[in-house]
Amino acid sequence: MANDETYAGEFYCVKCKEKRTAEGKVVVSENGRRMAKAKCPVCGTNLNRILGKA
Ligand SMILES: [Zn+2]
Repeated sequence: MANDETYAGEFYCVKCKEKRTAEGKVVVSENGRRMAKAKCPVCGTNLNRILGKA
């Protein structure tokens, strides 16, 4: 099942300790949780955001 869904919105960057607006991919984990993955536009840290179940 292909998933090309993207998510654009706010992520919390643990390195900057601030919210960042970024765009990333939506991935579905094994337990059915939808997560958005992006990169902080300021420091390049990977950002994860749990979106909940579809
Ligand atoms: Zn950052």
